[in-house]
Amino acid sequence: MSDCKRVYRFGTDAQGTRVTEGDKSMNFVLGGKGANLAEMSRIGLPVPGGFTITCQTCVEYSGAGNVWPEGALDEIVAAEADLEARCGKKLGDASDPLLVSVRSGAPFSMPGMMDTVLNLGLNDDSVQGLIAQTQNPRFAWDSYRRFIQMFSNVVMGVDADLFENALTQARLVAGVRVDSELSAEDLQELVETFKGIFSENVDAALYPELEVADGKPVFPHDPELQLRLAIQAVFGSWMNERACIYRKQHGISDDLGTAVNVQAMAFGNKGETSATGVAFTRNPADGTKEFYGDFLVNAQGEDVVAGIRNTEPIADLKTTPGLESAGEELERVFLTLEDHYRDMCDIEFTIEQGKLWMLQTRVGKRTATAALRIAIEMVEEGLITREEAVSRIDPAQLDQLLHPQFDASKKYEALASGLNASPGAAVGEVVFSSDDAVARANEGHKVILVRWETNPDDLKGMVAAEGILTSHGGKTSHAAVIARGMGTPCVCGVERFHIDAAEKVVRIEGSERVLHEGDVISIDGTQGIVVDGAVDLASAELTGDLDTILSWADEIRLDETCGHANHVRVNADNPEDAELALEFGAEAIGLCRTEHMFLGDRKNIIQSFILSDDETVKQQALADLLKVQTEDFLAMFKTMSGRDVVVRLLDPPLHEFLDDPRELEVAITKKEAAGANEEELAALRTRLRRIDGMVESNPMLGLRGVRLSVVFSDLPLMQVRAVATAAARLIKEGVDPRPEIMVPLVSITAEHVQIREVIERVIAEVSDEEGVELNIPVGTMLELPRACMVADEIAHYADFFCFGTNDLTQTTFGFSRDDAEAKFIPLYMHKKILKDNPFETIDTAVLELVRMAVEKGRATNPDMHFGVCGEHGGDPKSIKGLFNVADVDYVSCSPYRVPLARLAAAQAKLEAKRSA
Ligand code: PEP
Ligand code: MG
Repeated sequence: MSDCKRVYRFGTDAQGTRVTEGDKSMNFVLGGKGANLAEMSRIGLPVPGGFTITCQTCVEYSGAGNVWPEGALDEIVAAEADLEARCGKKLGDASDPLLVSVRSGAPFSMPGMMDTVLNLGLNDDSVQGLIAQTQNPRFAWDSYRRFIQMFSNVVMGVDADLFENALTQARLVAGVRVDSELSAEDLQELVETFKGIFSENVDAALYPELEVADGKPVFPHDPELQLRLAIQAVFGSWMNERACIYRKQHGISDDLGTAVNVQAMAFGNKGETSATGVAFTRNPADGTKEFYGDFLVNAQGEDVVAGIRNTEPIADLKTTPGLESAGEELERVFLTLEDHYRDMCDIEFTIEQGKLWMLQTRVGKRTATAALRIAIEMVEEGLITREEAVSRIDPAQLDQLLHPQFDASKKYEALASGLNASPGAAVGEVVFSSDDAVARANEGHKVILVRWETNPDDLKGMVAAEGILTSHGGKTSHAAVIARGMGTPCVCGVERFHIDAAEKVVRIEGSERVLHEGDVISIDGTQGIVVDGAVDLASAELTGDLDTILSWADEIRLDETCGHANHVRVNADNPEDAELALEFGAEAIGLCRTEHMFLGDRKNIIQSFILSDDETVKQQALADLLKVQTEDFLAMFKTMSGRDVVVRLLDPPLHEFLDDPRELEVAITKKEAAGANEEELAALRTRLRRIDGMVESNPMLGLRGVRLSVVFSDLPLMQVRAVATAAARLIKEGVDPRPEIMVPLVSITAEHVQIREVIERVIAEVSDEEGVELNIPVGTMLELPRACMVADEIAHYADFFCFGTNDLTQTTFGFSRDDAEAKFIPLYMHKKILKDNPFETIDTAVLELVRMAVEKGRATNPDMHFGVCGEHGGDPKSIKGLFNVADVDYVSCSPYRVPLARLAAAQAKLEAKRSA
C-alpha cells in the first residue's frame, strides 16, 4: 500500500466534532473546491460532511491508463464507511438513505469544464427510504430520475437527448407543459423508461462490473459501484476535449489533475423552507460593499444557473418567510469568510428545510474597477496592508480601465481572429489606404484601417483610424508597436483576410462574406477578434481608485531600502505622447524612435538625401532635416523638462523611407502607356534603379541601426546637431533639457567607439557655437547577442545600456519578428514547443543575455544605468524578471502601458523583498 495519503475528510463526526484534515493551502492536493470546503469546515461553518480524493490520485490513475493506484480504492471504501458513520445514514439504505454528490475540483477554477454527479446512492430501495423521510414521493422520484439521467450521461456517456426526448414524451402523455407538473406516478414511470434507455445504450463489454439481464446491462444498484464509476468519470473528465482547450487558453498545466469531492447532499428543493443560491461578499462588478447574489426558493443549484426561473436578490433572503434565520446566518457567514480570507469571496449555498449549508467558497473573480475599489476599502477597513492591496491587482486587468471594450455581457460571433496586438475595441468603416482613412475621417466617419501590413508611411492613416487590422505581422510588427503607442486598438495577423487593396475588397477564407470599402466592422484588440457590423462598446472608466493604487505602487517600487528603485519610462516620439505618458506617471522617455519624425512631408526630404547623387541636393536635404529635427527636439525636451529623454539615432532599414519599387514600376508602365515625356520617364527609371539597388534580402539584418550612421555618416552629424542645438537653446531659455543619445543595433565595440567620437565632436562644436556647456550622455542599445557577450568591453565607452529586447529576441531565436507570430509561433505553443510567445513574454535565454550583459556592464562601470525598451518593458510577467533576475534600473514602454508597468514594477519589488 502506498504511504501517500489519498483521501482527506472534512465536516464533523456524529457528535458534531470537526474531523477536517485539509486546509486552504492545499489547492494542489485537494483542488480549489476541496481545499476551501476543508477550510470552511475548519473555521466552523456549516459544511455537509464529505471527503476529497487527491489530484495526485487522478494523475496516477490517468497516467497508468485508467488503472487505480494500489490501495486507493480501499482508502475510498474506508472513507465512505466513515462518512456513513458520521452522517448516521447509509448509502442505499431503504429507510433513511445517505445521498452524495460527486464533484470535480481542480487546483485552478475551470467552470463547467468537468463532470459532476448529484443524488448518488439512489436505487429502487433507497428511493423508498427517501419517500419515507421526506413524505414527498414526487421529490424522491424526481431525484431518482435526475440521478439516472445524470449518471447515464456523465458517467456512461449515453446521449443526453434520449432522456430529454423521453421527458418531453412523458409531458405529452400526461398533458402538462412543464416538468414540475408531472406527478409522482409520472416520474416513477419515467424512472423505468430511463433505466431502459440505460440498458439499451450502454455497452456491457466496456463495463464488465455491471449486472446483465437478457443480454443487456442493468442500471447499477450497488452504491459502492455507482460511486467508483462516478469517481472514474470525474477523473476521466480532466482530459476531455473542452477541459483541455480551456487549460490551453488559460495556461493551466495538464499535469495537475483534478480532485474529486464526495459530499453528503443538501437539498434546496424540499419545499418552501428550502432554497439554493450563489453570492459574493461584495459587488464583483463595481466593488461596492454589499452582499451580492441571488437565490431561488425550492430549487436545486442547477436551476439557478440554468436561469429558468427568476431569482430573488440575496438581500431579500432574511425577510423570506421560513428562511429568515438561515438568511441571518448567511450574512454572518459572509462576514466570517471575508474576515478569514481577507478578500472578497464567492459562495454557493443551499438551505434545506431552514438549515443553511455551505457548498463552496473561493476568492471571487472581479472586474478591474471592483478590484481597485475592494483593495482600497479593505486597506481603509484595516483588513489588508497597502502592500497587499498593490500585490492583489492584476496589472494586465488595468487595460480594461484604459480602453473601451466589447460589452462583456454580450456574446459575439467572430468573423475572423488574429493576434491581440493592441488592447481596446473599435467600430468603423473598412478603408484600405491611409489616404482613404484620412479622407473619410475628415468627413466625420469612423474608420478601421485594413492593411496587409503597415509601414511608417501609414502613420497618418493610423492616426485617423479608430482601429487597425492587418492580415500579416506579429505583436512587434510596425502596426502593433505603433498602435500600442497610440493606444489604438489593433488586431494583427488576421490570416484569413485576403486583402485586395487595389480592388478594395477583403475575401475571407472559409466564409462567403466579402468586405467592401465602407462596410462596418468591429475589432477587439484585447481578444484579437473581428466581428461583422457594429458592436456596442463599454467605455473606459478612469477612476480615482486607479490613482490611489498607483501612488501606493510608486511608494513601493521607488523604495531604495531594499535594492535600487524600479523606474518606469515611456517610449514616445512626439510631445503629445510624452504629455499623455506624464499623466500616466512615466518618469522619463526611455526611447524616442527618431525615424517616426521622418514621415509625412519629411519623407520627400530624406528620399532626396538617400537617392540623389547631386551633393548640393543632398546638403540641402540635410539642412532641411536639421531644421525640422531641431524643432521636434525643442518641443520634446520642453515637455520633458527636468526629465531624461533618450534619443535613438536613426535605426530602420532605409527602404522603409523609399517608395515601393513594385508600385513605382506600375507607375512607370502607366506613364509609358500614356505617352509621358522621355525626360520624366528617364528620371523615374533612374529612381527605380536606385531604389532597386537598396533592396536587401534580409533588411532586418541589413543596413540599419548603427550601420546607417557608419555608411551615411552625415546622418548622425545632423541628428546629434539637432539634439544639441535644441538642448542649448532651451538651456538659454531657462528650461532643463536632459537629452541622452543612444546608438542602436551595435554588435562590435568599434562601431560604438567610432560613432561616439562623432557624437562628442558635434556636441562640443554646438557647445562652442551656442556658448552653452552641454553634458549629453551617450549610451548603447544592446539588441544583438554579440553585443551582450562583449558588454564589459562596450561598457568602457557607454554611459548607459538600454536593451532592445524585440531585436534581441529576433536574433537570439533567429525568428523574424514580422513573420514568426503569424506563421508558426501559435503552432509551437499548441505543440508545447514554446510555453509563451517570446515576443510578448521575455524568454529565459534572452533574459539571461540581459542579466549577463548588465553584470558585465556594471563590472566595468558601476555608475552605468540599465534599461529595457523592447515590448517586454510593458509586459507584467517580463517586468518582474527584468527587475528581479536581470537587475535593470528601468523599463520603458508605450504610454498606455505605463500604469500597468508601474504596478508590475511595484509587485516585482514586493517579490524581491519577500525573497530577500
Ligand atoms: C527593440 O528592438 O526592442 C527596440 C526597442 O527597437 P525597435 O522595436 O524599434 O527595433
Ligand atoms: Mg530594435
